[in-house]
This record gives sequence, structure tokens and C-alpha cells, in this order.
Amino acid sequence: MAKTDQNRYRLVCFIVSVALNVFLIANLCISRKPLSWSTTAAAEAEAVASISCSGHGRAFLDGLIENGKPVCECNACYGGPDCSQLLPNCVADADSGDPLFLEPFWLKNSGRSTVVIPGWHRMSYDYSDNSYISQELEKNIRKLHAITKNAVTDGRYIVFGAGSTQLLNAAVYALSMNMSSPAKVVAEKPFYPVYKEQTEFFKAKLFEFHGDASLLRNGTSNTIENVIEFVASPNNPDGNLKKAVLEGPSVKTIHDYAYYWPHYTAIPAPADEDLMIFTMSKLTGHAGSRFGWAIVKDKDVYENMLKYKSLADSGTSKDTQLRALKLIKVVLEDGGQGIFNFAYKTMRGRWTKLNHVLSLSKRFKLQEIPPSFCKYSQTVRGASPAFAWLKCAKEEDSNCHKVLHHEANILGREGGSFNAEDRYVRLSLVKSADDFNLLLDRLKELVSMEEQNQTLRSS
Ligand code: PMP
Repeated sequence: MAKTDQNRYRLVCFIVSVALNVFLIANLCISRKPLSWSTTAAAEAEAVASISCSGHGRAFLDGLIENGKPVCECNACYGGPDCSQLLPNCVADADSGDPLFLEPFWLKNSGRSTVVIPGWHRMSYDYSDNSYISQELEKNIRKLHAITKNAVTDGRYIVFGAGSTQLLNAAVYALSMNMSSPAKVVAEKPFYPVYKEQTEFFKAKLFEFHGDASLLRNGTSNTIENVIEFVASPNNPDGNLKKAVLEGPSVKTIHDYAYYWPHYTAIPAPADEDLMIFTMSKLTGHAGSRFGWAIVKDKDVYENMLKYKSLADSGTSKDTQLRALKLIKVVLEDGGQGIFNFAYKTMRGRWTKLNHVLSLSKRFKLQEIPPSFCKYSQTVRGASPAFAWLKCAKEEDSNCHKVLHHEANILGREGGSFNAEDRYVRLSLVKSADDFNLLLDRLKELVSMEEQNQTLRSS
């Protein structure tokens, strides 16, 4: 090539390269347009997240303000301005099923799980299709069940509720509407107390609480008519997978699957029942957002549940639905691996530690849950229940709740609340690590006292 041609060639290459760079840089600037109105909100959120509460508490945007800053809200048994002081003689509270064990997962995933809600977000009562339900959220809930393999949703209707608590009664109402006489609402003991408390509280001409389902099954009548049975599986309090005890043409069942997630149980097969209720409280741990859903086969039942919803609260909060959508999308991003592995590992670890401590005791017995095959993980899995259902084995310890409270400063929930004997007590395993560690320490002390007493007696 002649020298002048070579120079011309170099010049063209140079111009093309400059033009390309200008184009790419301009493109980058356009796509990275600086944020405008959301920056203040983001800065506020990050400022509150950076307040240190010594790992034993948290400051929130809507918490009390002192000296212009939100204050630390300390975990139980911790105090002081930064939650660094362990409070002496504090009760180990294992009463409620507050699922704070999932908080560390969301702290680690703050970026992926944050939603920004501007003042103009969904101010209307309705979505633009005149419904109370976000279609995108409904679609993602169906995907969630498909990847978890814990429920069939094809050809089913979905109703949203303010937690599953609201849907439990909406279901009783809807199922009892077409019965020829008032529905007898039952559950096999030990059962979740809200089934009885709520049914009695909302008692209407359509239904009344009728006690233990096994009593109806074992009764003299051949026909069991107009019955609604609640079945929680895995069960609260004992963590066992359960089936309905009653069946027949006029028996309806409400399947409460609050704990049917890989955190708490092996998933043997997708649930395929007529009326199934799930909750975000025990899936992602966001009990405070109050979001649950029912999967319903029958169109009439679905419509009656919608009617209940429309009269009770004109639909589930749109802010809650937006948050639920974001959280469920995070779960779906990696096929559930992140949250399900974290949750199972945590619950399994707690159960193993508890078993180890109590295996040294002759006085206290834990429920037994055998390992079983999990369709989600495709492995055999050891138990990881949400609650310990503890039995006081000694004749004289007829009230196990009192024994734990008086001798170990532990607060559980009496067996009687679940329509069972007070020889049993339920201990929550789903609370924060601080709560669980304190419970475990107190149980260790109790069991070591038992060992010391035994040594004294035999010496
Ligand atoms: N069902 C069972 C068996 C539960 O244990 C609970 C919560 N403790 C619920 C339903 C209600 O949960 P939420 O209203 O938070 O969805």
C-alpha cells in the first residue's frame, strides 16, 4: 500500500473509533440517568439501616424519634440505647410464632427486596381491571407453588386476605352458605386455637364451633352432615403432616398450609385439595405485612369468599400486594434456593440442638418426626418443625407450662390452648436467634439440674 493510502486508512480508523466511543459513552449516560425523586427516600432508608443496635435490635423508619434519630428497638432481654445490655432474669419467651428467624436472610438481601412507594402509588380502591387483586402477584404466586412443588394451582381461583387469619373465617363463611343446617366447625386435637376462637367470635346463624373432629368420627351417627373440618398440615403445634379425619358428601375441609414450605417440612407431594390456605407470614417471615392467599377449586366458594372480602375490607392493601410481589420475585429469582436453603438450615439446626439438650433428660420428651423424602429438594430430609411440642413425662408434672415457667423462667403456650392436655407445652422455634439461644440456655440449665438431682438421689 502506498504511504498516502496507509495514512488515509489510519485516519478513517481513528475517526470511526472516536465516533464509536462517543456513541457508547452517550448511551451509558442516557441509561444511567441520575435518579431524582427517589434519592431522598433511598437516603432515609439507608440512614436508618446504618444505625447500630449491637446486633440485638433494629431501628425502623417509623420508629420513635429521639434527638432527631429513630431509636433502636431491642430484641427481648436486651436493653440500653444500642441494645448492648443483656437484661438479667428476663423471661425466655417462646410463646408466639413470630417468624423473625428469617430476618437475617432479608438483611443480606436488602437491595433485591426493597420497594419504593411514591405518594401516588395505586391510590384507587381497585386495580384497572376493577378487581382487588394484582394479576402480576397472582401469576407469581402460581409460579411459586410450581417451583416449590407444594400445591396445584392449575384451574383454581385465588383469593387474597389480610393474613391467612382473615381467610380462615372467609372460608368458613363461604363453605357454610350452601349447607342445609348450621355448619358444625371442627378440628382434630391438638389444633391451632384460632380455629375455635375465631369461629366462636364470629358465630353466626350459618356456623358454630363443635369441638374435636375425632369425637364426630367416633360418634354413633352414621351420617356426618354439614361439617367443616380445619386441618393444618404440618400441624401447629406438633409439626405432623395431617389429613382430614372426616369425610362424606356434606363434609368440607379447610386445608391450612401455613407451614407447608421446605423450611418446616419435607414436601411429599403437591397439595391438591379443594380449599387450601397459605400465608406470607411463614413463607418469607413478613407477618407484619398481613398477606395470605387461598387456592379454591369451586367457583361458588370462590365468589362467596370474594364477597366476604369485599364486605370485610374492600380488598387487600395495594401497598401490601406490591411488597408481596417484590418478596416473592426474590424467592423466585433462584428457584427458591436462597431462602429455602437458609430457612431449612436454620430450622434444622435449631431442632438438632434442642434434641441434643433434651436427649439428656428423662423428664421432658419432644415429639418425634421421622425423616422423609422432599419433592422440592429431591433428598431425604430430617425434621425441622416450627414448634417443639414438649411433654412433661413425670406423673406429678401435670402442667408442663407451669413447670417451665417456675423452674426455668421459660414462657411457652399451654397444651390446653390447643385442646390438648396441659402435660404438653408448645415452644416456638421461629423467633429471633436471641430468643432461641436464650431458650436453649434455660433448657440446658433445667436439664443439668435434673442430672444433679439424680446424682444426689443415687449417692
Ligand atoms: N394458621 C396457622 C396454623 C398458624 O400457625 C398461623 C399463625 N400463627 C396462621 C394460620 C395465621 O397466620 P397469618 O394470619 O399471619 O397469615
